[in-house]
Amino acid sequence: MKRIDIKALPKISLHDHLDGGLRPQTIIELAEAVGHKLPATDAASLGRWFAESANSGSLPRYLQTFDHTTAVMQTREALTRVAKEFVFDLAADGVVYGEVRYAPEQHLKLGLTLDEVVEAVQDGLEQGMEAIDASGGFIRTGQLITAMRHADRALEIAELAVRHRDNGVVGFDIAGAEEGFPPSKHKLAFDYLATELLPTTVHAGEADGVDSIKDAIVNGRALRLGHGVRICEDLLVAGTDGGADSVMLGPVAQWVHDREIPLELCVSSNLQTGASREFGDSFEEHPFDLLYGLGFKVTVNTDNRLMSATTLTREMELMVEAWDYDLEDLRQFQINAAESVFQGVIEREDLIDLINEGFDECLDD
Ligand SMILES: [Zn+2]
Repeated sequence: MKRIDIKALPKISLHDHLDGGLRPQTIIELAEAVGHKLPATDAASLGRWFAESANSGSLPRYLQTFDHTTAVMQTREALTRVAKEFVFDLAADGVVYGEVRYAPEQHLKLGLTLDEVVEAVQDGLEQGMEAIDASGGFIRTGQLITAMRHADRALEIAELAVRHRDNGVVGFDIAGAEEGFPPSKHKLAFDYLATELLPTTVHAGEADGVDSIKDAIVNGRALRLGHGVRICEDLLVAGTDGGADSVMLGPVAQWVHDREIPLELCVSSNLQTGASREFGDSFEEHPFDLLYGLGFKVTVNTDNRLMSATTLTREMELMVEAWDYDLEDLRQFQINAAESVFQGVIEREDLIDLINEGFDECLDD
């Protein structure tokens, strides 16, 4: 098969953390401005430090990396710059629509209010989109406001998200320690969001298993699952060939499958944090391909581009290498994502058209 230029294909990013995607050089400059000490002082070594920490196999070391990124994202200027560069970097990767998530409560150390944080990020996103438009490109964005699950401010953060729904916010998420902090602990927040009809995606099935996924659907009313990879723990592999036809689905997997609840899968990130450990440590052992074969609504995501030293293009290239996907497989993942964005049906259909046009052009080449 002829080599596909994956970067040139239109793509959609559903699961990408703002504090996990900074440019190393930006971190250095922002750290200087606020007097924050970094583990390295030039961009190349700092980039390596992030990748090595994420690859260390130690979750505390992985999580430590975010102390440095959030430390330099405490002013309006810093947040605006990081958000603007988020747009530039996604556009350069061929992304036509990206939802960016972050927890505003982690950006208050130098006196910003929650509302100011959301506004600063929105300013950056809009500046980025305008600049891309002006250069003849195209990208649209949406903010996902995240509450930290070990904290007790979820209702306040949910209200913040609803307050900014006409200013760029498209949904709500919870992140952080999954085990021991299920959505049911934040019932008031999720009840409020349901009443206000704001979409939610919930990190679930990453550091915890099937019960956590069920809680995300039942109590979190999750319309998508952040990762959701451990839905595989609800599969019963009956045959010895390990293929899709020898698999039986448990009740939660059946529900996620039949309701076509999108899985925001992040293969490289899963390998680093051990979320898919029981399937093996290599890319090709990750259950993405199994879930795709079973007909789950799988999407391709980066999670933290800086820590995983990745892009959506790279994730898709690794998939082609691991599972021999062709253009139609890659198209399916992007259509799945386009159908799952937290936008109206008209916008979703426009995105689907855009994806199809780009993939058709690639066919003609
Ligand atoms: Zn995530």
